[in-house]
Amino acid sequence: MKVLLVNPPRFNNVSVIREDRCEIIEKNSVLPPYSLLQIASLLRNRGHEVSLIDANGENIDYATLEKMLSERDYESVIFRFTSSTFDWDMRVAAISKKYSDAYTIGICCTLVNFSEIVISEAKDLDIYIRHEYEVVAPELIDSLPAREKLSDVAGIAFRDNGEIRVNASANTIKNYDDIPMPAYDLLKSFNLYYADTRHGQPFTIMYTSKGCSYSCIYCTMANSKWKPRSAENVLREIRYLKKNYNINTIMFFDETFTMDRKRVEEITRALIDEKLDIKWYCNSRVDILDMDILNKMKKAGCKAVCMGIESGSQKIIGKANKRISVEKSEKAIKMVKDAGIKVYCSFIMGLPGENKTTVQETIEFIKRTLPTGGEINVAAPYPGTRLYDIAIEKGWITKQMDFRKMNQNRSIMRTEELTTQEIDKAREMAYNALIFNPRWWIQNTGYVVKNPDDFGLAFRYCINLFKIALAR
Ligand code: SF4
Repeated sequence: MKVLLVNPPRFNNVSVIREDRCEIIEKNSVLPPYSLLQIASLLRNRGHEVSLIDANGENIDYATLEKMLSERDYESVIFRFTSSTFDWDMRVAAISKKYSDAYTIGICCTLVNFSEIVISEAKDLDIYIRHEYEVVAPELIDSLPAREKLSDVAGIAFRDNGEIRVNASANTIKNYDDIPMPAYDLLKSFNLYYADTRHGQPFTIMYTSKGCSYSCIYCTMANSKWKPRSAENVLREIRYLKKNYNINTIMFFDETFTMDRKRVEEITRALIDEKLDIKWYCNSRVDILDMDILNKMKKAGCKAVCMGIESGSQKIIGKANKRISVEKSEKAIKMVKDAGIKVYCSFIMGLPGENKTTVQETIEFIKRTLPTGGEINVAAPYPGTRLYDIAIEKGWITKQMDFRKMNQNRSIMRTEELTTQEIDKAREMAYNALIFNPRWWIQNTGYVVKNPDDFGLAFRYCINLFKIALAR
């Protein structure tokens, strides 16, 4: 089958990330559509003919995309969409329907528990891949020539003679090493992509594992099994990227890259021994890092570790089932900095139990620990999370809530003691506690003096911060 993969255009000219746990509008980063590249290679391996339009990456607008689709010959189009850019992304399906009778297939992880609503509200979408795209997309494309077989494909929702059908959930991929090398040849150039600033190109993201067995109440990945690729399989991809594209920076996009210490040791050892000279970033948890592994990571090119701290209040962390302590978080931030690695921390304002005192505790935590960078979000009650259930039970949101309004920048959910406006204000105060803090500027300037190759990145990061401050 001829399959066209589309990463839809930027949302009103602002870049969008459409990857599993990260389906957000993100103006400071343009990421390669890694999951579509994986799907492309899986489909090619089964004999399908695949092409890609990365409209977000190449900044192709809808008028141009429409012209491109009108001239293409394809039998199905697969595109990713997000909850907050839902109607915008669905224009891909609408345009496709205008020029072709190809199947329109969308992927979105955030709305996995809103499958019926997705199909009913997206009239031009034939099939919704709800989750586990690595397994579901190839099965689906194989089955498409015989439409009656759709009811056998696990993990999809679809329209069947006017009726909406939601099939049983799909199994996860048995062995993540079975995914072939992503079809990188479909990208125009790696120089289109960057995270935060254009420093360190050519840049890409990479999954070395998927899933997370922790059960944080706000997280769409909670209670999914951790599925790692082997160290050798990861290294094979890194070597390939270095040899063929001279890749300079990789952001490991896993929920928790450092879950298996032995695997991290194997990867870091090879990066050092083979002098692969890659700068890399990863996500971790505060309770699985120590000085020894951090030193190895630093030596192997790790430039920054991102950790979810969420709150400076033990009460809030406990209620969120994060299973960490404020004390551990504080120690971990210091440890990462002592290893000479930058530490980016994310916080969430407006989790259950949040009040003015807990907000202040978080602000004090930020001032005390001064992470190199911070991302302050507001709690978003994504369907399927425990937080969503709590919010419905407490009446903080209704079941009729418009999922399009759900994002981590503007609160749509109050708590017992705070209004949505107060939560937004708390987010702003927390940002200010960091970026208007002279000690933070001194600390980060000190880091740049010791690491002059970071000057370009730091300079652009500061410009971004000022733009954010001015936009408020
Ligand atoms: S540790 Fe918690 S927030 Fe992080 S991926 Fe796992 S469940 Fe989600």
